[in-house]
Amino acid sequence: MAYVVTPPATVGVPVNGTGDLFPVRRIFCVGRNYAAHAREMGHDPDREPPFFFTKPADAIVICADPNNPTKVPYPSATKNLHHEMELVVAMKSGGTDIPVDKALDHVFGYAVGLDMTRRDLQRAMGDEKKPWEIGKSFDRSAPIGAVHRLAQTGHFTQGAIWLKVNGAIKQNANLNQMIWSVAEQITKLSEANELFPGDIIYSGTPENVGPVVRGDVIEMHIDGLPNLSVKIV
Ligand code: MN
Repeated sequence: MAYVVTPPATVGVPVNGTGDLFPVRRIFCVGRNYAAHAREMGHDPDREPPFFFTKPADAIVICADPNNPTKVPYPSATKNLHHEMELVVAMKSGGTDIPVDKALDHVFGYAVGLDMTRRDLQRAMGDEKKPWEIGKSFDRSAPIGAVHRLAQTGHFTQGAIWLKVNGAIKQNANLNQMIWSVAEQITKLSEANELFPGDIIYSGTPENVGPVVRGDVIEMHIDGLPNLSVKIV
């Protein structure tokens, strides 16, 4: 049987050091996973279990060249576009109810990513107790660098994570400040959804998120991964 419209192409992220692509199935994102960021958003990090939202796989923007900023268009419908710099986890396998001590066995590798956020819309919807989607899950809201295989990087439990806008440091933290570790995120997600190969997880952003405008250049760093650079156009 034929498809009645053209089926969507699989989104593939380059795998560093290979000619291969990592196929993205779903994008899960962790909310408020650094205590200081939870506080700046007006919440108490001590009382909150992890929670997740999603973006469509085609929100991905491949940022393949660490030396040349990848152009990301300023989205429609917002006057307050924020950067959220994050470690991204790429899953090679999945399952349900994955125990914490087995969770990292399902990781294919890691990447640097940006959870771009229409903060004005996110806040407005939150104020009205409506879904966040329009603030988070929009076109080209998920810039990402090459996926690095686990064998190249090992797992990330600590290390610098920072973001600059036009050369000025904005976000500057350590991965060890995550409230819920990567393993715990996988476990919690797998209790709510069956996870599959190709799923990726944006593991949350440190404090000092903030606005960007057209022309801004965003540079990002995580110890153990190449820097990523994006220009808002
Ligand atoms: Mn985020």
